[in-house]
Amino acid sequence: MLVKIFWDVDAAEGMGRPVAKEIADILQMDIELDESPVMLTGFNRHRKQFDAGQILERIQLYKKGHRIREPVLLVTGKDLFIKGSDFVYGLAKEAFGAAVVSTARMQDEFYQRRTDLHALCMRTATEGAHEIGHLFGLSHCPDISCVMFAPENRDQLDRKSIFLCRECRSKLESAISSSHPE
Ligand SMILES: [Zn+2]
Ligand SMILES: [Zn+2]
Repeated sequence: MLVKIFWDVDAAEGMGRPVAKEIADILQMDIELDESPVMLTGFNRHRKQFDAGQILERIQLYKKGHRIREPVLLVTGKDLFIKGSDFVYGLAKEAFGAAVVSTARMQDEFYQRRTDLHALCMRTATEGAHEIGHLFGLSHCPDISCVMFAPENRDQLDRKSIFLCRECRSKLESAISSSHPE
């Protein structure tokens, strides 16, 4: 199974490769990394954030126009929201095969702390893998150490491990095998 990662211009430079490698390890999938060709829309002037739903629509349009069938995860540095939430780390829509994850609130500068690049890379990989999990039909997991657990803040995010629990792992494996019948 191949998943494409689109790395947006304002996502942390130089982190694409390590993040892609971690995601490949977490999900045990092949990951292809590219600079993002998708022009992002959906900026809300009042909130100074981007509408994550609109970004998914852009990705879907791009995929259609370029006949991309693989799931796509876009990684951006832009702060994201959805209606009813102050912010989201990411969003996925299985029907589009499109997901987005933001590093904006994963950075330590956001909380006036010194940036720890390794921690930032692991957070981005964990949440990126989480959104890709949704693209394969996985839902949220109550196990706080599982990648599919939905963190509400960064402390919860950092308490997550980089592994899927046994149940989520087997759901993912059966989703992959049913999308590729032998
Ligand atoms: Zn989720
Ligand atoms: Zn789980």
